[in-house]
Amino acid sequence: MSRLRLHPENHFVSRIGWLRAAVLGANDGIISTASLIVGVAAATATQNEVLIAGVAGLVAGAMSMAAGEYVSVSSQSDTEKADLARERAELSENPAFETNELTEIYVQRGVDQALARQVAEQLMAKDALTAHARDELGISEISTARPVQAAMASAATFSVGAAMPLLMVLVLPAGALVPIVSAASLGFLALLGAIGAKAGGANVLRATARVTFWGALAMALTAGIGKLFGTVV
Ligand SMILES: [Zn+2]
Repeated sequence: MSRLRLHPENHFVSRIGWLRAAVLGANDGIISTASLIVGVAAATATQNEVLIAGVAGLVAGAMSMAAGEYVSVSSQSDTEKADLARERAELSENPAFETNELTEIYVQRGVDQALARQVAEQLMAKDALTAHARDELGISEISTARPVQAAMASAATFSVGAAMPLLMVLVLPAGALVPIVSAASLGFLALLGAIGAKAGGANVLRATARVTFWGALAMALTAGIGKLFGTVV
């Protein structure tokens, strides 16, 4: 680890996980709440009605993000636990077979047979389950999935994103909601996309263009539908 720190480049992969989740949560919050507000406002609702729709959208969205994240992280962690339990049983029932299996994995990656066996034996002497989890199952850190934290984090980041267009409903006159909420939300989306890309070491322009395009599409669609229903009903 200390040796790796001397490496002059910066690697971003380890930071992508939580950062991606946070940026995606805030993106979702902005896009869905701003679209909802723009759609309801385009249907010539009063400021109060727009506000109620926006608050309901924030709560519903945050809960749905939390539920989705909880289910997805839990099932991922269940699968990993089941895989590890099976591996643990195999290791205690048939250690010789497992040593051969790990040896073969290293041979296939290009290590000589004799050296591969030596590596497999030494790794298994230290911690057989961790060695098999990493090189056979591809699980690098055992039991790191935290469904409740993941659920709360996505609900929180969604709410932060959703609060932005919602606060604008409080300060803007009803007639100005559609153009100003859409423009400001696209601005925030672009900024968030740029921050996320910069922190993740990705192409800033491409990330910004992508998120702005989808945000604009979402708001144009709901504004169109709101307008349609507003004139029909
Ligand atoms: Zn194994």
